Amino acid sequence: MSDQARLDPLSVSAGELVLLGLPADDHSSFMRGSAAAPQAIRSALASDSSNLCAENGMDLGAAPRFRDAGDLALGGRLDLAAIEKGISAYLGRGASVLCLGGDHSVSFPALRAHAARHGKGLTVLHIDAHPDLYDSFLRDPLSHACPFARAIEEGLVRRLVQVGIRGMNPLQRAQAERFGVEVIDMDAWSSGRRPSMRGDFYLSLDLDGLDPAFAPGVSHREPGGLSTREAIDLIRRTQGRCIGADLVEYNPARDWDGVTAMTAAKLVKEIAGRILSG
Ligand code: MN
Ligand code: MN
Repeated sequence: MSDQARLDPLSVSAGELVLLGLPADDHSSFMRGSAAAPQAIRSALASDSSNLCAENGMDLGAAPRFRDAGDLALGGRLDLAAIEKGISAYLGRGASVLCLGGDHSVSFPALRAHAARHGKGLTVLHIDAHPDLYDSFLRDPLSHACPFARAIEEGLVRRLVQVGIRGMNPLQRAQAERFGVEVIDMDAWSSGRRPSMRGDFYLSLDLDGLDPAFAPGVSHREPGGLSTREAIDLIRRTQGRCIGADLVEYNPARDWDGVTAMTAAKLVKEIAGRILSG
């Protein structure tokens, strides 16, 4: 196991954006498979069927500030520490990092790294079908169902705004209340509620926040979610400055003809375009 990615952090400069794969799925619950996501999303990004232009006009193919670091070599119970260290190596150079999961457990070490760089008390915009606030899930406190409970407990996150949530059970509602989470569930979304962000925020995007009609390649398909267009609008139109992001829970084994990989690649372009345009 190594905490070194392919791109030497010393070759990275301030203002650059590093795409970093985190092939980790051993904290998944229902099924594994998201460890294969980073390479599959890169293949979709490289496909000749599309270009690398974000909708704001930023052409990632012609943007020297967009750097692909490859994947961290993960695969063990120390993954969380390796992920935090791997991300911190780039943040310490003044770069931003867009992480490709992996399951959602990677967000906890990613938030540790970002809190070390930007200060504790981060604001997070979290797009997901699920609140991921369990104290423990299947006896795993580091489960992909728990990262935001851990991040809030450590003081890494002060303001958590969730969008796309549906089907919260009473335990999840109690946890959201306990942590003071702002939950814009799909019912509220349908009534027109939108996140109101200000200042710097970190974006954590679980692909199952999208409706499975748009993104079937996820382990936990939860009908009634956001459209691809709505997710893009959230990325593009939310106020504030995006200081870092993760895109998690793509599971190639569940995909149909790579359609979710292309959706993930599209979202990578939009997130990268946004971060690089400041
Ligand atoms: Mn999640
Ligand atoms: Mn989810």
